[in-house]
Amino acid sequence: MSKVKIRIEIGLAFYNEYFIGGGKGLSNIDNHIIKDSAGRPYIPASTVKGRLRHETSRLYNSLEKDNKCIFFQQKEDETCNCLVCKMFGNKGVAKGELNFSNLAAEDYNKHLKSLYSVRAGVQINRYLGTTKDDALFFTETSGCGGNINFRGKIEGYVQEDTYKYQILLLYLAFAFIDTLGGNQSRGIGWIKDGKQFDIYVNEEKVEVNNLIEWGEKFEV
Ligand SMILES: [Zn+2]
Repeated sequence: MSKVKIRIEIGLAFYNEYFIGGGKGLSNIDNHIIKDSAGRPYIPASTVKGRLRHETSRLYNSLEKDNKCIFFQQKEDETCNCLVCKMFGNKGVAKGELNFSNLAAEDYNKHLKSLYSVRAGVQINRYLGTTKDDALFFTETSGCGGNINFRGKIEGYVQEDTYKYQILLLYLAFAFIDTLGGNQSRGIGWIKDGKQFDIYVNEEKVEVNNLIEWGEKFEV
């Protein structure tokens, strides 16, 4: 079976602030935004991959009658050869067909001065409804009112007989993602409308009309 090359250009921006943690800092802030060695914020490939996998599995399992992904049903000691595991890989078993890049911040220098802000919070003991000792914490957030665009890509080689279905799954799953990162209950991490998801098959652009046409061929 021959393979086709898939390349997907991803772009997104947040409405306001977002928080994806993992960074270190020198100040008294408890939770830092993850940044690269030059201090630029970025969205790790693992964040995008994990979230897209979750949405893709959910969609796939709702469409498939017999070949559901067993990992999504938490049967992680068994092996799974479903289409989602083929794309995203299994834990420790097989590498996925798709490689994800980090999403890098564009126009970062323009927004340097207003790049980060800090939010204070109070931890509440959820059983007693009281505040915990040392409960005040500070979280660094970023986003500059939605002015930073994050861009990255997904690339890989997939089987010729299934690539249309795989692309449809990824396209629809990506459309379901409207938040990324932590603290969404505090109103941060919401993605702006107009996310970019430009698909190329063997370097030829796939238009929305192609997707509609492919979708009609699947009995789902
Ligand atoms: Zn699976």
